[in-house]
Amino acid sequence: MTNLNELAATLRLPVEPIRSPMFIDGKEYTGNSGEFVARKSPGHGVPVTSTVRATVEDLNAAVASARRASDDGRWSRLSGEQRATVLLKAAQLIRDNVETLTYLETLESGKPIGQSRGEIGAAAGIWEYAAGLARVVHGDTHDTLGGDLFGLVVRQPIGVVGIVTPWNFPFFILSERLPFVLAAGCTAVVKPAELTSSTTLKLAALLIEAGLPDGVVNVVTGLGSVVGQALAEHMDVDMISFTGSTPVGRSVLAAAGGNMKKVGLELGGKNPQIVFADADLDDAADAIAFGIAFNAGQCCVSGSRLVVHRSVEQQLVERVKAVLEKVRVGDPLDAANHVGAIVEARQFDKIRGFINAGRRDGAQLVCGGTASNEGERFFIEPTVFRNVQPQSALAQEEIFGPVLSVTPFDTFEEAIQLANGVPYGLAASIWTRDLQGAIKSFREVQAGRIWVNCTITGGPEMPIGGVKQSGIGRETGRYGLEEYTELKSVHIQVGSRPRWIA
Ligand code: NAP
Ligand code: MG
Repeated sequence: MTNLNELAATLRLPVEPIRSPMFIDGKEYTGNSGEFVARKSPGHGVPVTSTVRATVEDLNAAVASARRASDDGRWSRLSGEQRATVLLKAAQLIRDNVETLTYLETLESGKPIGQSRGEIGAAAGIWEYAAGLARVVHGDTHDTLGGDLFGLVVRQPIGVVGIVTPWNFPFFILSERLPFVLAAGCTAVVKPAELTSSTTLKLAALLIEAGLPDGVVNVVTGLGSVVGQALAEHMDVDMISFTGSTPVGRSVLAAAGGNMKKVGLELGGKNPQIVFADADLDDAADAIAFGIAFNAGQCCVSGSRLVVHRSVEQQLVERVKAVLEKVRVGDPLDAANHVGAIVEARQFDKIRGFINAGRRDGAQLVCGGTASNEGERFFIEPTVFRNVQPQSALAQEEIFGPVLSVTPFDTFEEAIQLANGVPYGLAASIWTRDLQGAIKSFREVQAGRIWVNCTITGGPEMPIGGVKQSGIGRETGRYGLEEYTELKSVHIQVGSRPRWIA
């Protein structure tokens, strides 16, 4: 087989699928089924990678490895400084391998090569940020309990964490979780989406090179319904961090009930772009186009609903259309394209179904609406619908594709009602030049993340997560690290304890 680095440097398609085994207890692991599954590039229609479809026995081996590594303290008992050193080395190795990781990410996910490169670089930055946090994990002291009692609140790693990730940002989303899990002193079993497992497997190898002790990070590949489910149910796992759709999140929550493991859920969204009449419409139009077309609309935080003041609706929609008409959709390995492929046939059919439903329900198609699956290459033009009824499927359901629905409002109250009128609460953008209006809006809008005059931006310092059916808990920032810890209250008697019975 041609050398992977060489392929990545020249951006040629592999002649045969690039095969990656799993990673358990610091070693490559082929599993007891021996069943490898090929992944076709959704932008090219040819097999590009191949990973193991694991069994529940393989998953059990991974959990046993993580359990041993947690219980014997090989990672949790290291100093924060020692853990930070490993995380910083990992960040450096990610940077050193950026081209290989970028290439694998684009082949499997269908996202444009330049975008993948940006995501891998930004992910390295998250590892660096989390390295710093490894040295500031701390608890509290309470010297206000009276003369005879002194209190300590000790923050300890929660133990073994199961991490289940989706296919839309495979490396970036993992990097919003794993370095925080590790900074906290936990061990992990990771189950990436089967469609996009290769960069997670490559990372596991880089972590060993960075000096991470064996067994601290284990990766099991395969089907969520089999190994993901078994991980969520597992009695030896102390916490499950799940990122994916709301229906699967609900089943993870139920599965976690067996041993009452802690649950972190980052789920779907139907995120509003709320545009007031005084907004800078050119700024807003560019961001709205980006918010719906970026990653082909396959982002949990895609701005998929435009809620706009009636007086500027027509103007704004025309400007969004003008931006979208310049967006180039096509081969993800061609650096000139802004938008790549839809991840797979199922997702492609689902998005096309929503576009057809929009037409049927009487919404007005402004632009896009065309889709091509020729040669098992899946592309959809960014699509905008006007006059979308707030209760229709187009306005209520997470499409996870480049489809924007537009609904006008007349009053501030109506804008907030529309914005909050979905079961989700992940993110929202607010466009206005009026500071007071912006503050009034972000106080009222139900979402874990708000952007004022911007969209889909931030840094690892800021916590992410949702309210309502968009999830439970937060990732990233110091809050993200704290999610992976438990508090222990220690009460220390000072002097002799007053006797109960003299
Ligand atoms: P998904 O179908 O829910 O799958 C997510 C992950 O869960 C995959 O690894 C999947 O495995 C696994 N899985 C499937 N069934 C499972 C089960 N019964 N138990 C445990 N794990 C199981 O989501 P997706 O289609 O990959 O991703 C799209 C969804 O993710 C969207 O709804 C999006 O909004 C959400 N998302 C949310 C965030 C956030 O931060 N809030 C970020 C990104 C994406 P396989 O698919 O490999 O079988
Ligand atoms: Mg899925």
